[in-house]
Amino acid sequence: MPQRDALFASLQNAIGDAAASSRTLGLMVLRIRRLRETARMLGYDVGDALVDAVHALLATALREGDRVWRVGEGEFALVLPGLRDRNHAALAAGKVLRGLGEPLQAAGRAVLPVVSIGIAAAPDDDTEARALYRKADEACERANAGIDRYAFYEPPRRAFDFDHADLRDALAANRLELYLQPIADLREGGRVDRCEALSRWLHPVLGAIPPDAFVQMAEQTGLIAELTRWSLNVALRHVAQSPVLFSVAVNVAVDALRQPGFPEQVLDLLALWNVPPGQLLLEITETGLMTDPAHCEHVLRRLREAGIGVAIDDFGTGYSSMAYLRRLPASELKIDQSFVRDMREDPRAHKLVGSMIDVSHHLGLTTVAEGVEDAETLAMLRAMGCDHAQGYHIGRPAPAAEVVGGLASGAYAADR
Ligand code: C2E
Ligand code: CA
Ligand code: CA
Repeated sequence: MPQRDALFASLQNAIGDAAASSRTLGLMVLRIRRLRETARMLGYDVGDALVDAVHALLATALREGDRVWRVGEGEFALVLPGLRDRNHAALAAGKVLRGLGEPLQAAGRAVLPVVSIGIAAAPDDDTEARALYRKADEACERANAGIDRYAFYEPPRRAFDFDHADLRDALAANRLELYLQPIADLREGGRVDRCEALSRWLHPVLGAIPPDAFVQMAEQTGLIAELTRWSLNVALRHVAQSPVLFSVAVNVAVDALRQPGFPEQVLDLLALWNVPPGQLLLEITETGLMTDPAHCEHVLRRLREAGIGVAIDDFGTGYSSMAYLRRLPASELKIDQSFVRDMREDPRAHKLVGSMIDVSHHLGLTTVAEGVEDAETLAMLRAMGCDHAQGYHIGRPAPAAEVVGGLASGAYAADR
């Protein structure tokens, strides 16, 4: 995306200027929510006009030297140089949000846009343009999950801010939340007919904690079987109760897979929710599989024979041998996002992804590419015959009910 590259170059300069004058630079990422749904319901001209109207309103909140960039579909970046401190950026956000508190005129319609804003500041949060953008983006996602429509970037909490008793209690009290992320079927014109289940722990003080922070703890403290059971159960409930047909992919840590009776437990849950096995897919990381290949092979074969899908997750990061791959009873390869992310700029990453797609097709497996963040990458994957795509470009992980609602209203598609 050329506009984004130009933004990063300009932002890097502004960060340098701020440092030279001992000032703070604020970066605000604003995203219009449910834009495609609005466009589908009210017309694409209304959607486009709404983006223009928001753009015009943003311009009124700017001071001299501020700059607004249009970086994606319904996404803007505001660069605010020369602030006294990061709290000054909150004033600008407040001004924008007040302006957006009233319906905007868009192609003859009055539309109230829903937006979220994330703010990061240089030099406090980062001094590298892309990293700073990522942090503002992260804050923007957090703002979307919360009541306030804007949020500052917050550095990750340290692991010892919670302990395993907290996690055990949270599981027992059902204080985890299941997020879903849509996955597009590129063979079906980009139709979304599958989601990946991703857990969030709603900590009373710390907010939504991503799984990287607690899955490892669950693995080390014997809570992983319980966590896996919880995510399987909730994921299947959403499939069972959804008005539209979709299948769900659930992450299973290898320690959970190795629990005696795991396949029976999965089959019991499918029966409980009356979901056909073909609508469930289990994701196991390549690294996890390699820790106990013989046993995994045995368990996965049972699951496959029952009609459940099996995906090798984070493929390409775990050094499995071709000989092993050939024997493994999987149905799908998930190409790790590190390769997909570099595809556009690195011809070798591009070639690697192509080879992974070919290998998996030769082995009779389908492929999913994860971390698809832009249309160009999606087009490359499509041209290489990749079967499925997952990533922010298709849709971000969001609370399950919200995503199921989106599926029902046709809000997602990879066909733009
Ligand atoms: P994963 O299985 O590789 O899941 C994909 C991760 O990539 C998710 O992070 C997702 O939010 C993120 N992602 C998706 N699309 C994009 C994109 O376009 N760009 C970027 N930069 N990131 C993207 P999340 O939700 O934080 O999950 C992290 C990991 O935690 C997962 O990695 C998975 O291994 C594990 N996990 C999540 N939920 C569960 C669970 O219920 N049980 C177990 N055992 N593991 C889980
Ligand atoms: Ca996964
Ligand atoms: Ca993955």
